[in-house]
Amino acid sequence: MKTVDITYRYEARDTPEESGPLDSDAALRRLDDGNRAFAAILESLAEGSGPVQRIVPVDARDLGLLLGADETPKQRPFAAILGCSDARVPVELIFSEGPNDLFVVRVAGNGLGGDVLGSLRYAVNHLGGSLKLIVALGHSGCGALTAAVDVFLNPAGYLSVVTKHSLREIVDGLLVVVQASANAMLRAFGPNVVSNPGYRRALIETSIVTNAALAAYAIHQEFGMNDPASLRAVYGVYLLETREVWAPRLGEIKGMGLAAPPQDAAGFVELGNAIVQSNRIASLIAQTETL
Ligand SMILES: [Zn+2]
Repeated sequence: MKTVDITYRYEARDTPEESGPLDSDAALRRLDDGNRAFAAILESLAEGSGPVQRIVPVDARDLGLLLGADETPKQRPFAAILGCSDARVPVELIFSEGPNDLFVVRVAGNGLGGDVLGSLRYAVNHLGGSLKLIVALGHSGCGALTAAVDVFLNPAGYLSVVTKHSLREIVDGLLVVVQASANAMLRAFGPNVVSNPGYRRALIETSIVTNAALAAYAIHQEFGMNDPASLRAVYGVYLLETREVWAPRLGEIKGMGLAAPPQDAAGFVELGNAIVQSNRIASLIAQTETL
């Protein structure tokens, strides 16, 4: 097996601090490029031999080095990321970013509770000079969505969380997304889909995408993003299997990279169709044994 080194190289620079991406498109491209590079270098582990290295350059000043005795680095993230707490999704690493690049909020199931919205509100109000993008990032195999799907499929399971208010709050907040995802699967595959061995896994994965897209839609509404060039909300799902970010779209077979959320109810129906028609979900439905 190859050796892969991902190096955060702190450089002492005497040049002015580099400005981050100038608009939301450039911010999105930078995150997509960073994730593709991360996924590619790890994919290369499976091939050939010999070391592979990727260097993530870091301005030492972002860690408070080389500054005056009383100076601290100024916060200047170009993107805010709402992700899941899941330990397998280290946000800076999967986007090849370093300190002071990302304003990260992580909660189980990447839901939009009061603390999350307050944190994002802080970023929008105080870091607007550098902030160009807010990302709602789900991930495959999410435990929070899995719990919600299991309650949806077997409501008796709700009894085990009904008095655990903190857990119940997370599950309650996800059930609408699961219901909408189940509807999309019924529309696409017909009523017999529920007895398919891959149905549960397909419903979990469909719900994960829908949940991230709904969060991005809500963030867009919450913060009234009137100028999409200066700040906008997007979503994606980090696939633990391939380490790539996925956001299915109609007419695009692979649908890799971050995407804009739907704008209205019709857009969510269209997204539901794109998700269930994707190769990924279709292959789960095609399973002949329970996953
Ligand atoms: Zn999760």
